Amino acid sequence: MHPHLFTPLHLRPFTLKNRVVMGSMHTGLEEREDWAALTRFYRARAEGGAALIITGGIAPNPEGAVFQGAAELTDANLSHHRHLTDTVHQHGARIVLQILHAGRYAFSPHCVAPSPLKSPISPFPPKELTEETIAKQIADIASTAQRAISAGYDGVELMGSEGYLINQFLAPRTNRRTDRWGQDRRLFAREVTKATRDAIGPNLLIFRISLIDLVDQGQTWEDTAALAQELSPLVDIFNSGIGWHEARVPTIAQNVPRAAFAPLTARLKALTDRPVIAVNRIPDPATAEAILAAKQADLIGLARPLLADPDWVNKAQNGQNITPCIACNQACLDHTFEGKAATCLTNPAAGREAEFEAPPAPAKTVAIIGAGAAGLACALTAAKRGHKVTLFEAAAQIGGQMRLAAKVPGKEEFQTLLAYYEAEARHPNITLRLNTRAGTADLAGFDAVVIATGVRPRKTALPGPDYQQALNGAPLGPRVAIIGAGGIGFDVAAFLLGHEDFATEWGLGDPAVSAGGLQTPRPMKPSREIWLLQRSKGKPGKGLGKTTGWIHRAHLAAHGVTMLGGVDYSHFDDQGLHVLQDGQPLVIPATDLVICAGQEAVADLPGPRIGGARDAAGIDAKRAIEEGTRMGLAL
Ligand code: NAP
Ligand code: SF4
Repeated sequence: MHPHLFTPLHLRPFTLKNRVVMGSMHTGLEEREDWAALTRFYRARAEGGAALIITGGIAPNPEGAVFQGAAELTDANLSHHRHLTDTVHQHGARIVLQILHAGRYAFSPHCVAPSPLKSPISPFPPKELTEETIAKQIADIASTAQRAISAGYDGVELMGSEGYLINQFLAPRTNRRTDRWGQDRRLFAREVTKATRDAIGPNLLIFRISLIDLVDQGQTWEDTAALAQELSPLVDIFNSGIGWHEARVPTIAQNVPRAAFAPLTARLKALTDRPVIAVNRIPDPATAEAILAAKQADLIGLARPLLADPDWVNKAQNGQNITPCIACNQACLDHTFEGKAATCLTNPAAGREAEFEAPPAPAKTVAIIGAGAAGLACALTAAKRGHKVTLFEAAAQIGGQMRLAAKVPGKEEFQTLLAYYEAEARHPNITLRLNTRAGTADLAGFDAVVIATGVRPRKTALPGPDYQQALNGAPLGPRVAIIGAGGIGFDVAAFLLGHEDFATEWGLGDPAVSAGGLQTPRPMKPSREIWLLQRSKGKPGKGLGKTTGWIHRAHLAAHGVTMLGGVDYSHFDDQGLHVLQDGQPLVIPATDLVICAGQEAVADLPGPRIGGARDAAGIDAKRAIEEGTRMGLAL
């Protein structure tokens, strides 16, 4: 299967056994110095078949650390790195250390940059680097690279994209210097790469090059092409970098089409004889194989998909069902930004593999009521351990609320998760009883019972379809007020707006046409007028995901959705919805209401509960799957 994906690639220092590179991801275990968990994490991905692993970003010095105290490679922790690299090598993979100097993105008062310009996503203005301190940054990067080789790494990746220090030197947006480092904006990248090559000798050197900055005054394609040509003699592989962190165009979220940026990698490939890695939104083997077959890239970078399934590569080779990454960011990047260790919504064991080890179980008979996310996760975990599971589901299909999520434009990846569960539910230890609303009598005789009956929409005094009815196609007029502005209110608003072209909506252009690759966003004219309302004061959407909330808010704002907080509902009549907003009477001329006012637990049967049936407040797929998995392990 997938012949291109499984063709070895011969490089100068060694041969990669296949075309899958695990992209750099910060797990948070680095700073906790949980070496056992970190080593276990990388070991699982090596065992799972990845040819090459790139570590999470490691700072070359304190001023370059993404936040104060972010991981560095020091003489003190070198032996732990050595154990980690030995372990990865024993399990058949190569591993390189990513060196990441954050420049002005460092969340610290000690941050440095080519010019003293504060980034819009950081409160800290950077100190302008001097000739002397530039030399220090280069020396620190090179000495970290040298130490990486002493720690057993097969090489290093230089983070030259995503708006970090090297990229800051490259773009006019952040490099306003008039000295040689500004007159020749590529000089820093060249000097860092040369010094790194000198430090690591013939070991592997990857440069992550920004193919599209997606910010004003970013690089042109001409700049990128010149850099690629200058660096080609120095590097072994180019990795693709897409968009700065401060960019206002989504680059990895669910609404980004699969393989959206592969054409840019193909353009890079045409410029260099070095192998190139395609990245971002390549979740499945078919997409990866197609990119390689079309010669758009030589290697495929998978980051989040290898959180979701460490065995992605081996499973792709054997045609097995892969636990999908649905690009939600909820348990990986959102956790990182909340200062928590990264894990995965679809695979709660990610980063805590030892905690979720599944010992074989003495085969009990287990009844699980409800085949939504929690019930399914519980059933699969229990069945794989050896229990005999009967999974009752009142509906004609499994999936529960995930089926509704899959209907929302930009959330179609939930369909992939449903397909995964549908295939896994065929496990020989699972008997699936669809169209069966289990009663107490059905549960007699089982060794264990688990209630995963989920939630029902909360009713309010206001009339109108609830979110389930709306997402299932309840007819609605031209002006809709949505009561409740949680995640589901936002989803319903997006559903009512409908599908549209990603590049046109977000202004994704071509760096060969405009610097930074931006074009004027042209969101489609909305077919409906929508209001999204909440009683709490403040702007709706504060509780949305750290890394994706801005996308949902910007999407609705671009289509003229009025988002109001501090709303006191009165009544709904022919004129519309009568409210007090911040104490002032207001009539919202809505023709229809949709009620998205949260949920209540459905827990009519006795027994231990998981997911929404246990606690409806704040239930989402992340908590449901984790609770289901933990219950499956505890049975
Ligand atoms: P939610 O986040 O709790 O929001 C419920 C909304 O209803 C709030 O805006 C609340 O605001 C309002 N509300 C509550 N009681 C009300 C009442 N009696 N009358 C009128 N309004 C009322 O819940 P949800 O939107 O149903 O989402 C459920 C879970 O799914 C959440 O945990 C959410 O994180 C998750 N989810 C996440 C995403 C995502 O993109 N990550 C998407 C969908 C769902 P006021 O009380 O201020 O009026
Ligand atoms: Fe993918 Fe979501 Fe898991 Fe992150 S949490 S790896 S985005 S499925």
